[in-house]
Amino acid sequence: MPRIIYICFFLCPILLFSQQTTERFVNPDDYIEKTTNTNVSPEEDRQQKALDFIANQEKINEEKRLKNQQLKKEEAIDDLLMIPEQDHEFVPIDAIVLDAGHGGKHPGGISNGIEEKRLNLTLVKKIHAIFRKKNKDIKIYVTRKNDKYVSLEDRVSKTARWSARKNVLFVSIHGNIAFNSKVSGFEIYTLSDKASDPDALATERIENAGFSSSDIEKTESVYSILADLIRDGTRKQSEWLARFVYDDTLRASKTYGRGLKRANFFVLKYNTVPSILVEVGYMSNAAEAKNLLDEEYQNKLTIGIYQGISRYIQEYNETEGFTK
Ligand SMILES: [Zn+2]
Repeated sequence: MPRIIYICFFLCPILLFSQQTTERFVNPDDYIEKTTNTNVSPEEDRQQKALDFIANQEKINEEKRLKNQQLKKEEAIDDLLMIPEQDHEFVPIDAIVLDAGHGGKHPGGISNGIEEKRLNLTLVKKIHAIFRKKNKDIKIYVTRKNDKYVSLEDRVSKTARWSARKNVLFVSIHGNIAFNSKVSGFEIYTLSDKASDPDALATERIENAGFSSSDIEKTESVYSILADLIRDGTRKQSEWLARFVYDDTLRASKTYGRGLKRANFFVLKYNTVPSILVEVGYMSNAAEAKNLLDEEYQNKLTIGIYQGISRYIQEYNETEGFTK
């Protein structure tokens, strides 16, 4: 037998067998090494691997984010399912959420020496103090106690959590600005898909400007469907609450009232409890700005707001939700 045939006779089965085993028991790392090294330089290969690694991490992060979002949605649904059924059994209002607009990196309007986020917090603290002094039965929650930024999602999710424990009202406090420095006056807003007039639309744009699109997107995905289901039931209550607070504040402060208005404020949109947004006055009007900085005027405004909220709660509870 020629030497070459002799070699073939012994080696071919070994080669064949080894070929089959590598196909069957291929190590993924070896495979990547072989496939990635064939037509690219080591540097390109290294870069490609880095890119693959980043893409993989991004995929993992995205999966984590979606899982987290789903969990939050389930939590929010659980919270809302815990709200007592008002159709069957009357539940008195026993708490309010005081929301000082803006804060931290988002100052709100700035005009005539007033930074809106500071004015809002000062007034919320005053309303809180009046409740503590005059009406201890009402539990007060605040969305911020100091100058920190609170996202839309946090304001809404905190309110949802609190409303699972108590029957709450939501009152957001803001100062307004207008391009026309002659514009002045006190206003209260309730939610509407469409602004009630061009001035209301301008205010809506200013107040909504503070929320980032990702914050809105996140909040929308978690709360919008739930809010749609419950909002219709609370719309009327929000409008009554606005009327009570408006009348009592004008009476207590003797300020000029520009009326009850409607606009599509994000902070009202996703809440599932009766909610109003109080615009205490125009910081862009020199005379009104001076008033808003005056402590005596601030006291009159906040006493009026306190009286309006209290009167609403009292009448709502005594008439079992205006049904008696
Ligand atoms: Zn504001």
